[in-house]
Amino acid sequence: MAQITLKNICKEYGDGFKAVNDISLDIADGEFMILVGPSGCGKSTTLRMVVGLEDITSGDLEIDGRRVNDLAPKDRNLAMVFQNYALYPHLSVRDNIAFPLRLGHNRIPEEEVDQRVREAAEMLELTEHLDRRPANLSGGQRQRVAMGRAIVRDADAFLFDEPLSNLDAKLRGQMRTEIARLQRRLGITTVYVTHDQTEAMTLGDRVAVMRKGVLQQCASPRELYEEP
Ligand code: ADP
Ligand code: ADP
Repeated sequence: MAQITLKNICKEYGDGFKAVNDISLDIADGEFMILVGPSGCGKSTTLRMVVGLEDITSGDLEIDGRRVNDLAPKDRNLAMVFQNYALYPHLSVRDNIAFPLRLGHNRIPEEEVDQRVREAAEMLELTEHLDRRPANLSGGQRQRVAMGRAIVRDADAFLFDEPLSNLDAKLRGQMRTEIARLQRRLGITTVYVTHDQTEAMTLGDRVAVMRKGVLQQCASPRELYEEP
């Protein structure tokens, strides 16, 4: 778990266009934070700066009080959770989950890899499916495998970028429930980007509302509902 703090974060693209304009946001340990707003308002850019896939033009990004602006993505220990398409179709669920543990510099003994994969599978209720391929899983199960990748390497936070936008309404509803349930159970700090009002109002502890690069307000769904 980690506390993620954005202090006056700005992103200016080449032509001087400010995609993100002076955003400050304090995401608590274990909190489920939603970033919501219309397309083009800067949500994805913000998330990419947090994970380190985009340079920060100005401002400070802190993880547990430490400035991380200049840290490479791999040194931030945050896990971007991609949807189905990030799973390797030719690998079993077991090997998909184990994948990050077998990357070059990690070099973890196979017994430990096996142990961690079994623990993650247990948490995600995937134990019976470890030998299957992604193609033979339901959408919900695939989402859990994607989360398993993040859990297995003990990431400090989950970052989601519109994970449900390509799904039909029924599956989207199921996945919402799945993600909310797992986040609560694991208590892992989560930042979730969406343009969908329903997702924003049902999933998170707090909702950060963005518009044209600016953070308009940040409050719990309840407070947002009660606003006149
Ligand atoms: P959202 O995720 O809210 O849809 P983005 O963060 O993707 O918004 O984009 C914010 C703004 O920055 C948009 O106006 C977009 O066109 C612009 N933008 C995104 N990426 C780039 C880029 N690489 N170069 C220039 N402008 C960009
Ligand atoms: P390189 O250029 O050396 O491949 P990258 O910055 O592309 O470096 O990525 C290095 C590491 O950063 C990856 O091995 C991965 O662990 C991590 N990483 C890259 N993209 C993401 C992401 N979207 N979410 C979380 N971690 C990532």
